[in-house]
Amino acid sequence: MDHEPGSIEVICGSMFSGKSEELIRRLRRASIARQQVQAFKPEIDDRYSPDDIVSHDARKIECTKVKTARDILSCVRPNTKVVGIDEAQFLGDGLIEVCETLANQGKRVVVAGLDQDYRGNPFEPIPQLLALAESITKTMAVCMVCGAPANRTQRLTASDQRIVVGAGEVYEPRCRKCFRPPKGAGLETCKSPGTENAG
Ligand code: ZN
Repeated sequence: MDHEPGSIEVICGSMFSGKSEELIRRLRRASIARQQVQAFKPEIDDRYSPDDIVSHDARKIECTKVKTARDILSCVRPNTKVVGIDEAQFLGDGLIEVCETLANQGKRVVVAGLDQDYRGNPFEPIPQLLALAESITKTMAVCMVCGAPANRTQRLTASDQRIVVGAGEVYEPRCRKCFRPPKGAGLETCKSPGTENAG
């Protein structure tokens, strides 16, 4: 514990909007300022390399993979000042309490994740983290149809699972006007908790 108040910063947006790049930029700056930094991401995300947070433009930073949000608490060292968490949408609602706990310990918690799922619905736990955060950054991609700023992720394959890991061949960013939600998608929440971890 120390006397500095901790904080939660959320970086969110669609895929290809530069969330990981922005997370890496902030962690790098903290590191240059000689603050102890630790980064985490869920084990589900196997794109590219196993032990780094890698953005789509291949800039990277070392990180620890975790199975659950709670694993982060046991891995964070007492002298760590800044905790980065990427792909937060895969860590579930448990992440909310973890971020609160770390921030209450005086740490700066920087969380990056998708704020909407492929249906265009809020993607937990990002909505809850937005409410609790000291700082919010919405990153925008470029709509692949019309070139406007894009905040939705269009799934290009037919699947009704909420989580399908992939990049350019499976998803593309779209603006509000060009986004086509899948059939049956509405603003109701997902059908059952079981769909959360499918895939
Ligand atoms: Zn568009």
